[in-house]
Order: sequence, then C-alpha cells, then structure tokens
Amino acid sequence: MHAIGVDIGGTKIAAGVVDDDGVILAQTRRDTSPDDAAGIDKAIADVYAELSQSFEVDAMGLAAAGFVSADRSSVLFAPNIAWRDYPLRDRVAALVRDDVRIVVENDANAAGWAEFRFGAGRDVDDMLMLTVGTGLGGAIVTDGKLVRGAWGVAAEIGHMRVVPGGHYCGCGHEGCWEQYASGSALVRDAQATVIIDPDRATRLLELAGGDVDRLIGPHVTQAAQEGDPLAVELLAELGRWVGEGAASATALLDPALIVVGGGVAAAGDLLLVPARRGFAEQLSARGHRPEAALVVASMGNDAGLVGAADLARV
Ligand SMILES: [Zn+2]
Repeated sequence: MHAIGVDIGGTKIAAGVVDDDGVILAQTRRDTSPDDAAGIDKAIADVYAELSQSFEVDAMGLAAAGFVSADRSSVLFAPNIAWRDYPLRDRVAALVRDDVRIVVENDANAAGWAEFRFGAGRDVDDMLMLTVGTGLGGAIVTDGKLVRGAWGVAAEIGHMRVVPGGHYCGCGHEGCWEQYASGSALVRDAQATVIIDPDRATRLLELAGGDVDRLIGPHVTQAAQEGDPLAVELLAELGRWVGEGAASATALLDPALIVVGGGVAAAGDLLLVPARRGFAEQLSARGHRPEAALVVASMGNDAGLVGAADLARV
C-alpha cells in the first residue's frame, strides 16, 4: 500500500506518494508561513486531498523540525515554527475526510530512516545519521530499529556540549556541537574571516555580491570546489568538527556506518576527507576495533518525505 510523506519546513511543505520500495510516485508542494500553525494544518490537508485523488493511500507521515511526543501525535517544541505542545496529528486529522492513519515524526529521524531503509545505510543494522544543515540533526538506528528514547526526543545529538563556554546556541545553552558542525557555523566563520582577513576572502566576498551579510554556505562550497584555499580550509575545519564529534558518538553507539547528509554534504570529499581524519584521530581504541565508515547520504532532499511515509506504515 502507498503512503504519503510530508516534509514540513519553515516556509514550505513538500509532499509525495511513496511506495513500499521508497520510490516517489507523485509530488507536490505548498508555501507556508512558520507563524501560522493553522495554515500549515490546512496546507497538509490540501496536499493530502490532491495526492489521494490518484493514489490509494492508507497512511500519512508528517516530518516536523521539532521535538515530537513519544506517541507520535504532537510537536512538543519547535525552534522555527509556532508549535508549542501542538497536537499536529489531531488537527490535521480533523481536516482530512478519510480514515487515514497519521503519524508525526522528527524530520532528522525521518531522513535517517530513509537512508537506513533505501539509501546509504540499507546494508547495515546499526547506523548514525548526521544531517548537517542549518543545524545539526541526528538519527540513530540500532539493531534495525529507530531509537526514539523514553519520551520520543532521542538523537538530538547537535545539542551535546563539545565546547564548555563556547558559542551560544538557540537551545539556550553554550558550546553545542551544532554551533561547530553545521552550515550556520560554516557561514559564521566564513563571514568572520571576510572581516578579519579580507585579503584571503576576495573570492568568497565576490560570490556574495560584495556583501558579507549575503554570504551563504553554497558560496563556500563553490569557492572550495574552485580551489580557493580559504574555502577549502573552512570546510576542512567543519569536517574536523563533524568527524571528532562522530568519534564521541561512536563511543556511545558503536555504529557500523555514519551517514552525513544535509545541505553541507554537497561539498562531498572536501568535507568527508577531513571528517574521516578527525574521526580516526579521536576514535578510542583505534586499531583494536572495527571502524565505522563515514559516507555521504544518497537520498537527497527527499529523504525526510520518504522516511516519514515509510515510518507511517509501521
Ligand atoms: Zn544547543
């Protein structure tokens, strides 16, 4: 049976009909506003109505960027969308006429599940997914099962403290891993270098149209791919943070595979090679244990949608 997956972002939702093999059969999207929770409910009901016209579906998974309750019905808290103890499942169910099974999933968990079922992790039973985007999301699969924890909010790995007294984090604490291993960290450091050391940053500034405030992560990736030494260095620094943190996570989880996804993963080896080096240098008992491989995710931007659909089935 087919399921619908919906990836709910800050300003848009992407939805698709997904079959048992993780293949997207049809897709649609709507623009939304992060401040308008009721509008998001309506947009979800709307994409359901559109997609269920041509396909028979019995489940819908909603991937949400926030803390999701253990019963997969509510968003307890979302940093970028106006959800506080928000009963998303029931609000959407009230707008959908059919008796369809609806579940809410954390977006990083959904993306990780898609990689585990259909992507880079399909041949292993134990996997750690790191989604290096605006923030740093995590998903843990142990013995073939998604780890949700007692209250549904496990794998918020980006908020492990790696630098006491370090950069302030949106979660209210300081020194969280995502302040060092995310696209936001990359841009922050790139912008700082443009100001402190402009002679080295001419290409980055050029790509940003001469305005340091308009510098974005893909500019750094592009400059690095062209061979710009500063951009290569910035991505290598980000990779080192990813790899060293992955080694700490490995001390806890012992995964067979670490999958790196998110927008920054587009940098490929420019990120992965330094990440593998940082991982190897920081891994405990190295040389006396099998080592997890670090690889790039293979499901692309549709991972959240595909994973949410698949998780809604079971
Ligand atoms: Zn934090």
